[in-house]
Amino acid sequence: MVGYCIYGQFNDSYAFHEVPDLTEYQKLHQALLPDMTGDTQPEVQRCPACGEMLNKWDVPLTDLRLKRRRSDISATYDGVKTVSQRFRDVCETEGLTGLRFISLPKDKAFYAIRPIRAVRFDAVRRQTEFLNRCDVCGRYRSVVGATPVCLKAGESIHPKEFVWTDLEFASGDEKHPLLLCGVEAGQILKRAKLRGLDIEPIKDAHAAPAPVRFDWYSSRRPATTSLNIPILSDGLPEEMNIVANLEWHIERTLR
Ligand SMILES: [Zn+2]
Repeated sequence: MVGYCIYGQFNDSYAFHEVPDLTEYQKLHQALLPDMTGDTQPEVQRCPACGEMLNKWDVPLTDLRLKRRRSDISATYDGVKTVSQRFRDVCETEGLTGLRFISLPKDKAFYAIRPIRAVRFDAVRRQTEFLNRCDVCGRYRSVVGATPVCLKAGESIHPKEFVWTDLEFASGDEKHPLLLCGVEAGQILKRAKLRGLDIEPIKDAHAAPAPVRFDWYSSRRPATTSLNIPILSDGLPEEMNIVANLEWHIERTLR
């Protein structure tokens, strides 16, 4: 085993967006398909052709204040991982390395985290799908197929280190790299009983994958998913994005 993949449940907050005006029904769907219709911060630069964010990891997090505040680790709908002071204390006490803690001007109790080092994700072996490439910026609208984690041969993680993947997954503004940590770091985090910690061993980072997934486009596809979400009709690019996004979330749920 080379380490762990760390997930974070949504904290019902946006790092780059205004909170959209949602109906109760729409709020129920936030966990599956976060609404990104709220205005984005003026610092956000987007591709004029496809609208993908071009400077996501350089935009200052001036307005971020977490709405759901119970978890020691969680994530915004638009892909930023956040941690509590307690999480930071555990890292510092135990000598865990590789994370930058970014202060949030409007929320002193939490930090955004950014690993310093990236490891190369093996998209070929994992059979990751890249959907809707933009000819102008070269980015893909959706990148689907992140787990089980598959790293390129030669990549490793120090036992006490945090890293992230060089590939970002999911769709549109939700896109984010995977947060990974070494074996000892994962065990320390689990022992610390951090709230909201969702952590899974990377069994063999270089092995061929055996993913659990639906075959969305085959005739065998079910009329609804296990979460009872109707499958959308096929073909149109925007619907493919929605399906790709759903697939990402369902893949996470079925793990
Ligand atoms: Zn573009």
